Amino acid sequence: MTRPSNEVFPLRRLAIDRLVDDAAGARLPDDDEIDEHLAELLDQVSLAIPGITFEKDANGEAGRVHFSSQGPKITYDPTATLGSGHADPRTFRSAALLHEVMHVICDQHYEKPPIDGLYGRNFHIDRAAADDDAIGESIRQQQDIADANYGRAVAKLEADRSKVLSENIRKYLGERFGYGKAQPDVHYDSVLFELLVYLTMHGAQETPTFRYLRSLSVEATARRNARPARMITHVHA
Ligand SMILES: [Zn+2]
Repeated sequence: MTRPSNEVFPLRRLAIDRLVDDAAGARLPDDDEIDEHLAELLDQVSLAIPGITFEKDANGEAGRVHFSSQGPKITYDPTATLGSGHADPRTFRSAALLHEVMHVICDQHYEKPPIDGLYGRNFHIDRAAADDDAIGESIRQQQDIADANYGRAVAKLEADRSKVLSENIRKYLGERFGYGKAQPDVHYDSVLFELLVYLTMHGAQETPTFRYLRSLSVEATARRNARPARMITHVHA
């Protein structure tokens, strides 16, 4: 039997649906409501999921990634909520879990010198950087730029009068910018991704804030996949 050609089948990423269901998170919208760049990132998440061990842990944390010689593991607690109370718990759990998967993607795609302890960095680090000073310098230069971009995101949000950005969403965003700024060497791509997911789930893709965060994420994604590896060198307009 052939199907009528006008029938619409919503595109769903089943591995992501199963994951957020398990974590008592909210499901993402159908693909036709998802921005193209975000859809590309969600495709990368779908590809990464089979290589990750997921484990429930009643520790109150929405998600945590663990890197070991056995491969990446992500633990999550389906009862976790954001401590400040500014996030809708189900949306927060989905966004937080996807954030952790982005740490794994970063660990797999960013190049780094073959030494221990550099798990999950979200910048390329010159493979030839042989000592701690050279590695530290490379990380410092790049995280200063990420930091400046977070600063601009704060200014964009303050200037953004979009009604869809409720007081709680604004507080959540502010809290997450602060979280990213505290550790920009591991919390850039992951936080940007999480915020694109969170804003999409709240129907806020048309806001200047979303567009700015999207432009940062587009830059990070291109850099992450670039070969030869290149560093982040410019603050984003
Ligand atoms: Zn993280």
